[in-house]
Amino acid sequence: MAAQLDSECIFCKIISGQIPSEKLIETEHCFAFMDINPLADGHCLVVPKYHAAKLHELPDDYHADIGRLLGRLSRAVVDGTGCFDYNILQNNGSVPHQAVFHVHFHIIPKPSHQEGLDISWPAKAIDKTKLSKVRSEI
Ligand code: AMP
Ligand code: ZN
Repeated sequence: MAAQLDSECIFCKIISGQIPSEKLIETEHCFAFMDINPLADGHCLVVPKYHAAKLHELPDDYHADIGRLLGRLSRAVVDGTGCFDYNILQNNGSVPHQAVFHVHFHIIPKPSHQEGLDISWPAKAIDKTKLSKVRSEI
């Protein structure tokens, strides 16, 4: 499937080579490069070669390739940095901290409490009404 890019999008411009990046690898459906402002050494991004802002807008064809590449790059980041702990992060929307509105997955090494991703986790009880609605949508 040919890449479907948006001429105004910064990650589409990286995929097409109009903007330089520290490229790691390119596959049929994905492109991976180093994050320009890393939270830790080895922080990199996997993006589909398809312009969609959020994960639920991405066609099915891209998901398997993203999953394979995340596994392959995680192994490379672990071996390359010597850091065995890391987070995979994928933000959808400005409230959950998305700044670039082209789907992307972060691989973020977590070498210490001070470096890498800092997470707040405000857990609450399951809402059974919302759960049954989600189940019916699957
Ligand atoms: P998010 O908050 O999930 O949208 O993350 C966007 C990420 O893209 C941030 O970690 C930025 O540092 C990164 N980023 C933005 N522009 C570039 C660029 N030109 N090259 C590499 N990474 C970038
Ligand atoms: Zn894009």
